[in-house]
Amino acid sequence: MSGLQPVRGTRDIFGDESRRHRHVENLARDIAERYGYSEIATPVFEFTEVFARSLGETSDIVSKEMYTFEDRGGARLTLRPENTAGVVRAFISNGLTQQLPAKLFYSGPMFRYERPQKGRQRQFHQVGVELLGAAEPLADVEVIALGADLLSALGLEERVVLELNSLGDAESRQTYRSVLVEYLQSRRNELSPDSLLRLERNPLRILDSKDKDDQAVVANAPLITDSLNAASRGFLEEVLKGLEVLGIAYRHNPRLVRGLDYYCHTAFEFTTDALGAQNAVLAGGRYDGLAEQLGGPSTPGIGWAAGVERLAMLVSDVPPLPRPVAVAPVSDEQTPAALAISQQLRRAGLAVDLGYAGKFAKRMKRANKINARVTVIVGEDELARDVVTVRDMDTGEQKEVALSSLTDDVARFY
Ligand code: ATP
Ligand code: MG
Repeated sequence: MSGLQPVRGTRDIFGDESRRHRHVENLARDIAERYGYSEIATPVFEFTEVFARSLGETSDIVSKEMYTFEDRGGARLTLRPENTAGVVRAFISNGLTQQLPAKLFYSGPMFRYERPQKGRQRQFHQVGVELLGAAEPLADVEVIALGADLLSALGLEERVVLELNSLGDAESRQTYRSVLVEYLQSRRNELSPDSLLRLERNPLRILDSKDKDDQAVVANAPLITDSLNAASRGFLEEVLKGLEVLGIAYRHNPRLVRGLDYYCHTAFEFTTDALGAQNAVLAGGRYDGLAEQLGGPSTPGIGWAAGVERLAMLVSDVPPLPRPVAVAPVSDEQTPAALAISQQLRRAGLAVDLGYAGKFAKRMKRANKINARVTVIVGEDELARDVVTVRDMDTGEQKEVALSSLTDDVARFY
């Protein structure tokens, strides 16, 4: 225990980094709103069962990565490792199933016990969307377009690639499952212990394994694409057609899977080569079986989640903060007037800096240091005439301004 250190895999976010995070989150929220999504905030902890039931006991997240604890009342709780399960749980608990489609946006911290490295933390943040109640390929297109819009708004269009695959409908996955199991059985002595377990319970998940030996086996596995039935092929074609209409470039990656039982049809991931091994920035897919799995009415769904830390690291041009107005009393006697003036300007919506003490020369130095756009100089003689001096910090030009019109005069600099 080292009380003054943050817990391994967690970070304090402040200053420039905080601005980057906020930029990502605000853009995501604004763009989601443009697509008709409204924000939902679900609790950061849920009954463990919510995640166990939705992600499956053999998933990496449930078997290795969850922060699970018993509270003082004996309830088994888990800090959310992702937010799809929580949002779908909330969708069912709140009766949102009556007004479809439900279009929900979220933003907030997630928790996974992983080995920390660049772009991989134990507490990290995601923004994401979930669209519930639309089974049509057009919904997949719209959700992907929303993600693509966010990435272009962040200036990342050239630095990411959209990879996409189809997992097909239940029938196609059943066909594929038998083909895949047959293949994996033939090489079972090369599989990791984890994957041997998955072979019985959820073979598709082996395709998603991070284990090197598993990956060597998976590299030669039959492709799900070859097991898709006509309806599933048709669905995929519609999605691709939509992306083409929108000019969204994609790469069909027949090896991309999301190894969870309820995933079907579209699976996609925007990846980058700028973050080393942590190459996925935004990932999602269709999960038509999830609501039912959680005990709600059968409802189709599709969504994605993006890692805020990973996106924040990639963006280069975060909009600068507005330059403040500095207010500088010439001597201590003018402090009350300077205080009142600062408040008046803040109420008019301007960012104002008023130092707490110091000689006039020091206050002017500070105005320079904080990159003030203008400084309002409050002097004794001027106050007596109900005026102050406004200094343009870029040109050095000064002029007297009546107190009664100060707000308008200062606002003109912005
Ligand atoms: P990875 O393959 O990198 O482990 P994942 O498949 O576990 O990612 P998802 O569950 O799809 O990730 O989560 C969506 C996004 O959240 C990822 O694309 C990534 O940007 C981000 N993310 C996931 N886990 C972490 C983490 N531990 N730290 C930071 N960001 C993360
Ligand atoms: Mg992971």
